[in-house]
Amino acid sequence: MKNNYLLLGISLIVHLVLISSILVYFMLLNKEPIADTTFSFNKHSMKQSDISTKNFRSSVTLKAVGDILIHGTLYNSAQTTDGYDFSPMFSEVKSHLEDADITFANQETMIGGETIGLSTYPRFNSPYNVADTLKDVGIDIVSIANNHTLDRGEQALLNATSYFDQIGLLYTGGYRTISDSQVIRTITRKGITFSFLAYTYGTNGIPIPKNKPYIVNLIDYDKMTNDIKAAKKISDVVVVSLHFGNEYQRMPSDDQKEIAAHAVNMGANIILGHHPHVLQPMEWIEAENGNKGFVVYSLGNFLSGQKSIYREIGGILTLTIQKEIKNGSQTIEVKEPTFLPTYVSKNGYKIVPLKNASNYGLPNSTKWLAEIDDHMHQLFPENQMAQAN
Ligand SMILES: [Zn+2]
Repeated sequence: MKNNYLLLGISLIVHLVLISSILVYFMLLNKEPIADTTFSFNKHSMKQSDISTKNFRSSVTLKAVGDILIHGTLYNSAQTTDGYDFSPMFSEVKSHLEDADITFANQETMIGGETIGLSTYPRFNSPYNVADTLKDVGIDIVSIANNHTLDRGEQALLNATSYFDQIGLLYTGGYRTISDSQVIRTITRKGITFSFLAYTYGTNGIPIPKNKPYIVNLIDYDKMTNDIKAAKKISDVVVVSLHFGNEYQRMPSDDQKEIAAHAVNMGANIILGHHPHVLQPMEWIEAENGNKGFVVYSLGNFLSGQKSIYREIGGILTLTIQKEIKNGSQTIEVKEPTFLPTYVSKNGYKIVPLKNASNYGLPNSTKWLAEIDDHMHQLFPENQMAQAN
C-alpha cells in the first residue's frame, strides 16, 4: 500500500510538472512576437539598409584630449631597462578615456622612434611607446597637424605614420603620400559615421616641401571648405581639429573665433582646438547660414613637462552625438558637453583627475576645480546646453 501511494504521488508530481511546463511554453510562445518587435531593431541596427529605410535613433560618446607633448624630462622619466614605458603616466585616467565610443588626442610631438634619436624642445622626437600607450588607453585617432609636425623632417613623420598603421591607430592632418592625404579618416560606431579632419596654423617656420604639400594640412579656407564638403558626403558628423590660437592665452583670439565659425559655416559639427597649452572655453556656434556646431577653443596640455599651474591642467571633453532618422529625414544633435579637468603631477608626470590632485602634490585642488569649471563654461548661455544641427 505504502508503495502504491508513493507511486501515485510521484505520478501526480510528474503530471503537474508536465502541465506547468506546457503552460509556460505556450505563454512564452505568445510573448515571443512582442519581444521580437522590441528587440529586432537592436539586432539589425548596424545594417545600413535598415538605417536608411526605417526610423532610427542612436547615440555615441566622443571624448577628446589636448596636447601630448613629450619633453625630454618625460621620456627620461619613462625610461626602463629595455626601452620606454609611458603607461604609468596614464594609469589614473585610462578608465576615463577607454569608456568612450571614440577618443581623440592631439599628438603634438612626432613619434619618429628611437632609431633617429629622441629629442626635446624645440625640435621634438618621441619614442614609439607613446603610441603604444595611447592605443592601450583607448585613443582611436590622433591629429598630427601641428606646429611640431616637421620638427625632425619627413623621416620622423614617415616613421610615426608607419608605426601608427602597424598598431592600428588612426592619424589625420599629416600624410605619407598624396593618395594617403586623399583618404578622409572615418570611424563608425553604432550606425553613426564620424569624419576627422585636422589643420595647423603653421610649422614653426620649417618650410613644407614644395613638392609635398600633403605632408601637413595648413589652415586654408579653400582647402577646409573642400574637405568638409567631401567629409559630409561620406559621414554623419564632421569633426575638425584645429591647432591654432596664441600660446598661454586663456581666451580665444578673434582669429580662432573666425576660423571656428568658418568651419561650422561649411558644415563642421564639432571643432576641437589646441595649441595655446592652456585651457580655453567651450562654446556653441551658430554660423551665418544657420549651421550649428560645438567648439572647444583649447583643450590645453593633456601630458607635458611644462610648468606653471594653467599649463599643468588639461582635461577630457565628453560629447554625446545623437543621430535620428524619422520619416525619412535625418538630424544630428551634439549635446551634453562635459569637461573633466586633469592635472599632470610633478612626481612621475602622472595625469590625474584634478579633483584628486591634492593627493598628487597640488594644494587647494578643490579651488582649482571650481575655477576651471567656471572658465570652461563661461561662454555657454544659461539653459542652452544642447543644440540640434
Ligand atoms: Zn602647438
